[in-house]
Amino acid sequence: MSATALEAKPADAPEHCPGTQSEDAGKASACAGCPNQQICASGPKGPDPSLALVKEKLQEVQNKILVLSGKGGVGKSTVTALLSRAMAHSNPEKNYGVLDIDICGPSQPRVLGVLGEQVHQSGSGWSPVFIEDNLSLMSIGFLLGSPDDAIIWRGPKKNGMIRQFLTEVDWGQLDYLVLDTPPGTSDEHLSATTFLKETDGSWGAVLVTTPQEVALLDVRKEITFCKKMGIPVVGVVENMSVFVCPKCTTATDIFPAMTGGAEKMCQEMDVTFLGKLPLDPRLAKCCDEGKDFLTEYSTSPMVVVLNQIVAKVQDFFDK
Ligand code: ADP
Repeated sequence: MSATALEAKPADAPEHCPGTQSEDAGKASACAGCPNQQICASGPKGPDPSLALVKEKLQEVQNKILVLSGKGGVGKSTVTALLSRAMAHSNPEKNYGVLDIDICGPSQPRVLGVLGEQVHQSGSGWSPVFIEDNLSLMSIGFLLGSPDDAIIWRGPKKNGMIRQFLTEVDWGQLDYLVLDTPPGTSDEHLSATTFLKETDGSWGAVLVTTPQEVALLDVRKEITFCKKMGIPVVGVVENMSVFVCPKCTTATDIFPAMTGGAEKMCQEMDVTFLGKLPLDPRLAKCCDEGKDFLTEYSTSPMVVVLNQIVAKVQDFFDK
């Protein structure tokens, strides 16, 4: 069995899953009772020809960052946008792209201030929408007729859409491509991982969590997912750690870190802690209005921490 076939396993696959591209897919004894058995048995076998296509299309994309979170609402999309903007600001000579594959909740067009823009199709593929001279965005949100359209999509359709995104967007030369993924570990993550694994250059995952144990439990699962799938972990960002009152400057823990928060979890799981982003209502407002928080509030503590996170992320890829 090829390495690719071994890797193409659903997250909830039985222990002896032969892999979706194996001749035994859906037919091995381990497949009995697996919810994907029928799909695997009837699906095409052998290496997926689109793997080579993705590799070719992303040849000019140097580094890829998957932004992951265990739960929805912890700020994954916000961190994707902040991180991408901060990197693009600090390195004007480099090029950055954001790919929003959060199929059921694509929020990047709003957060990056290009809601309602159209993507254009040319001979060389879809052209992403430019946010700044060196920052462009492609999102499923640009293609859906209605925001509710994708809610009922099943695995194969999501897989097809991600393949299309990775093979048909004309990014040009990029130093970094940052992928905003749905929360948890689902079809989208498996598809993106299978494709990105085959590409040249470096890649890794940035995980976003809030400090309370219910969120940390899920991010631990994400780290385990990354380890199982061979995704290098860049590090963990703790978001909405503390609220500093703009009037009296009293710091309040909104989500108390009963178990030591993300920093302690990172030590326990031997992954890098990237930093703590505060809760700042002005950020939520900027995201809703598509404004750039970094230029609007350039001296805020949020921006200081963000630049430290950017430095650590760049260190990871420069190594
Ligand atoms: P996710 O992508 O994890 O579902 P979002 O990035 O959409 O989460 O964030 C959920 C909500 O929380 C949004 O309204 C966003 O503006 C807000 N938010 C995220 N991070 C912060 C923060 N550090 N301070 C204030 N609001 C935040």
